[in-house]
Amino acid sequence: MRQKLVVIGNGMAGMRTVQELLAIASGLYDITVFGAEPHPHYNRILLSPVLAGERSLQDIVLSDWNWYREQGITLHAGRTVTQVDRARRIVRADDGTEAAYDRLLLATGSQPVLLPVPGAGLRGVLAHRDIADTEAMIEAARTHRHAVVIGGGVLGLEAASGLARRGMAVTVVHRNDWLMERQLDAEAATLLRETLETQQGLNFRLGAQTEALLDDGQGWVRAVRLTDGSELPADLVVMAIGIRPHIALAQQMRLHCERGIVVSDTLQTVTDGRIYAVGECAQHRGVAYGLVAPLFEQGRVAANHLAQMGIGRYEGSTVSAKLKVTGVELLSAGDFMGGEGTEQLLLRDPDSGVYRKLVLKDERLIGACLYGDAEGGGWYLDLLREGRSVAELREQLIFGEPVHG
Ligand SMILES: Cc1cc2nc3c(=O)[nH]c(=O)nc-3n(C[C@H](O)[C@H](O)[C@H](O)COP(=O)(O)OP(=O)(O)OC[C@H]3O[C@@H](n4cnc5c(N)ncnc54)[C@H](O)[C@@H]3O)c2cc1C
Repeated sequence: MRQKLVVIGNGMAGMRTVQELLAIASGLYDITVFGAEPHPHYNRILLSPVLAGERSLQDIVLSDWNWYREQGITLHAGRTVTQVDRARRIVRADDGTEAAYDRLLLATGSQPVLLPVPGAGLRGVLAHRDIADTEAMIEAARTHRHAVVIGGGVLGLEAASGLARRGMAVTVVHRNDWLMERQLDAEAATLLRETLETQQGLNFRLGAQTEALLDDGQGWVRAVRLTDGSELPADLVVMAIGIRPHIALAQQMRLHCERGIVVSDTLQTVTDGRIYAVGECAQHRGVAYGLVAPLFEQGRVAANHLAQMGIGRYEGSTVSAKLKVTGVELLSAGDFMGGEGTEQLLLRDPDSGVYRKLVLKDERLIGACLYGDAEGGGWYLDLLREGRSVAELREQLIFGEPVHG
């Protein structure tokens, strides 16, 4: 009899792992997938281009309903798993559906962090996380005029740009003095802000804190009040201040969790070897990632292990960030701020709006922050990952990969 694999979370990490597993051991398991969203597996990162009107929701489906049937996968879409009995090895969903497992894969992703301010529960206050949020934003942009996005990180700026493209007047409120401070230094962030102001018509309130969201008297948001007392008109508020691994179910299952569900190099939870966790809900060697590249790498190793070819080990990922806003090119990776014991190589071309900073330590590239022209960024990422000496390349390093004629 075939073993039973149950997957909780029909998102990018869970389904990537299933696809990897099917590619190497298609007949090994009867697979059942539970997904809280009423959709087949889609590409979450493309929600921003959908919001901007550059893609449709149909374009971003990665595996349609037929695919599950063809693969013999039982999919319970629109069903949230609320209980797992680890002794009997049975999961139970909110509608009472049950499934037994020999192996269980947790891929529950993250949840957006919502600012705990008065008015946060008003209608017209959204996150930028899933199809439902995107559809609600598109609808709000059709019927409303003023948007405030709280959070000037990647997700906030992509939401702001998409809403502006749909005709809204958008203000971004950001706590820090410069945008995307986790990916950019102040100089690159200033260039970014100027581009977003001139090309996208966005407004910014930097170094600003939200105090409350104000009610229009009928339960809908009408304004955002900042701690300096100023009020910004807002009939749509998007909160994009961060994400938190979705671990409530794992905690209820008494799996060891810190920020995320703690897993080993084989992506097995440290508490229960039958249970794996991948993607944003997982914490590996102290890190819970929030990007797709690591979860693809995790998916390969988890699939390998589930296929009983236990040779792969996940050792962590070097991550990089981009911004999916048309007209903006940037790339950031590693320790781009530098500090004691590091050296910086800089290139500035104000006429073309290009800024490039490389951070070296002991003749190795440890960080990069590119704005305006990120072409060739892949080469820097390779150098970062390889950690090899760049002593011989030093003179031309800032100009990109040498062309050998
Ligand atoms: C708008 C946006 C743009 C992004 N852009 C980029 C980008 O450019 N580059 C990049 O690298 N990353 C980007 N990301 C991040 C990337 O999408 C995530 O890292 C990735 O989707 C995480 O995959 P995951 O499977 O861990 O979580 P998810 O894709 O969120 O999947 C988790 C799924 O599990 C479901 N679930 C949770 N609990 C249960 C339960 N109890 N029962 C059943 N189902 C459950 C959730 O509903 C969800 O569908 C972006 C994210 C967003 C929101």
